Amino acid sequence: TQQFEQKIIRSSCPYCGVGCGVDVTTINSVPTAVKGTETHPANFGRLCVKGSNLIQTVDLDGRLLHPMIADKPVDWEQATLHVADKFQQTIKKYGPDSVAFYVSGQLLTEDYYIANKLMKGFIGSANIDTNSRLCMSSAVAGYKRAFGSDTVPCSYEDLDHTELLILVGSNAAWTHPVLFQRMEKAKLANPDVKIIVIDPRRSATAELADFHLPLKAGSDVALFNGLLHYLIQHNAIDNNYINAHCEGWSTTAAGVAHSDIDNTALLCDLSPEQLTQFYQLFADSKSSVTFYSQGVNQSSQGVDKCNAIINCHLATGKIGKLGSGPFSITGQPNAMGGREVGGLANMLAAHMNIEDQNHQQLVQEFWQSPTICTKAGAKAIDLFDKINAGEIKAVWIMATNPLVSLPNRNVIEQALKKCEFVVVSDCMEKNDTLTYADVKLPATTWGEKDGTVTNSERRISRQTGLMPAPGQAKHDWQIIRDVAHKMGFASHFDYHHAADIFKEHAALSGYKNGSHGHAVRDFDISGLSTLSLNEYNRLIPVQWPINSTYPNGRQHIFDDGLFYTPSQKAQFIHVVAQLPQQTPTTEFPYILNSGRLRDQWHTMSRTGKSAALAKNIKEPFLFINPKEAEQLGLSKSDLVKVTSPYGEVILPLQFDKGLKVGNVFAPIHWSQLTAPTANISKCFGSFVDPISGQPESKFTVVKIEKY
Ligand code: SF4
Repeated sequence: TQQFEQKIIRSSCPYCGVGCGVDVTTINSVPTAVKGTETHPANFGRLCVKGSNLIQTVDLDGRLLHPMIADKPVDWEQATLHVADKFQQTIKKYGPDSVAFYVSGQLLTEDYYIANKLMKGFIGSANIDTNSRLCMSSAVAGYKRAFGSDTVPCSYEDLDHTELLILVGSNAAWTHPVLFQRMEKAKLANPDVKIIVIDPRRSATAELADFHLPLKAGSDVALFNGLLHYLIQHNAIDNNYINAHCEGWSTTAAGVAHSDIDNTALLCDLSPEQLTQFYQLFADSKSSVTFYSQGVNQSSQGVDKCNAIINCHLATGKIGKLGSGPFSITGQPNAMGGREVGGLANMLAAHMNIEDQNHQQLVQEFWQSPTICTKAGAKAIDLFDKINAGEIKAVWIMATNPLVSLPNRNVIEQALKKCEFVVVSDCMEKNDTLTYADVKLPATTWGEKDGTVTNSERRISRQTGLMPAPGQAKHDWQIIRDVAHKMGFASHFDYHHAADIFKEHAALSGYKNGSHGHAVRDFDISGLSTLSLNEYNRLIPVQWPINSTYPNGRQHIFDDGLFYTPSQKAQFIHVVAQLPQQTPTTEFPYILNSGRLRDQWHTMSRTGKSAALAKNIKEPFLFINPKEAEQLGLSKSDLVKVTSPYGEVILPLQFDKGLKVGNVFAPIHWSQLTAPTANISKCFGSFVDPISGQPESKFTVVKIEKY
């Protein structure tokens, strides 16, 4: 008779930045049921439709199960040797900056750490960037300018206790559903809580709002400069807080002198009454959370937008307190973990600064590495431009599909065709990017992977292996380790378990960071550097920092009014409103916005397998305001050609009354492989924020014609 072994294994959901805990039932190592973990502080048992249908996504259909060189199966020894040789030859001939890694917020922290270590400390280049560049790099730069560190000051608990919740550029009802449920619950428990949704599109999230501000796309800096002006004019500033904890106030205050209600109303395409209502609520409320996401970040002025928001919180002292703060929400499950290990081209490990010689020395000393990068590497868009320019000759892409997700697909496609050596590690056998891979490396995915992730409130949780790796698939950290060994760095990459890497990462975070009182660096999890394997496996979700001062984590980082700048004071940043990089013209009269659907994730490798998730929306589409469709003589379901200066797609038309006139919206999920004419990234140009390098994925001009 067959052995029947049932287990309930605690893990976390692999999709959005909420980072919900899941309890998965397995029978003989096959996942059979999933439910939300009652005790996980991110979700307290709740799951959204994506998390609830995880079990439908764990089959082996379409999986890449063997390493391949030139589409022929090889063994791991051959594959890793080939990758190591090619990278080494390229580095020898053209220098360390001739190679690059392009990684992903889907990687676990341990994968991310070791990839970053190999590139920055052993290859000696900072050419490692990530699809998180598309997600929250503007938020990182905004926090760093204001606080001297990439510190998210808030916790989800703030949503339960705030008097005023402002959602900017976030359709949380679709993109962070469990947090949205938490907001609904808070509003139900206290109907006096006010909720404002700021978005050019009246999305599902706006249904919860007391009012919706349909601002002109891209005018957020003007809106928040207007708020700061209003607060000054109405004596709603906390001068004690500013004097005790901030710098740069007089320049910033003077900089908004012309941002009166009438000017702001013109810039934002809102009425003075709408603005006054919002501004007065902010002035009156004792606590406010501004919850912002990709609508703020994915912009050619994303960093300034973040600082315009942060300025208003600093000016009123609404930060570091329960129910208050500027709260950036990440899109991906481990975008935050990537930040912690320095997985962006302009960061070092453990939130250290790449330009800081002391930090370079400190990381090199800790790693005992032969070299260390001394300048920022190529950020996502630059990285592919450098491939096109012939400067980067070998790239290793891990757990992401840049051909579908980066803007300007034609340029990315050209780069991958031109690149001399393309390695792709992925769990799937086919996707648009894999078409151009010289080497394909089979990686594990959710349900098999084992390590940690950090969610949007700095909470580190375990993602647990439920079943063995299928075929010859390996964990990303194992693949990188094996290549590092073949490159001659075996003694520095002597890892046998993800826990070995995690402990090293934790130890580096506390290395020479002071052990008492106010640490020099914000990210410090040295309290986890001595975990036994058993303790690592049973890690209770915890918010960093975790060190001798905060052994059980810390909810509000700036509750002591001390920041991580040299003066320990927060910085006001004077920002001037600018328009997006393109303006609608007679030829291209519409503004195209792009984003997620509630029931799909990224390019649908996993969610595309679930019949339940496909039930609601089965195919790509273009949303248009029905009044506008009527003027164009278009009906629902008509096929339309959407053309921008960069490319075109063909999509069926759907109606959305919530869209502002002149704006249309399309989902990001479909690729050339899943819907040959619908990869919307083709329509976006390569415009980026000049500081963060984050692409402007919410704004391109288009024309619409019946197909
Ligand atoms: Fe939670 Fe996000 Fe997963 Fe939904 S997709 S269950 S909100 S982590």
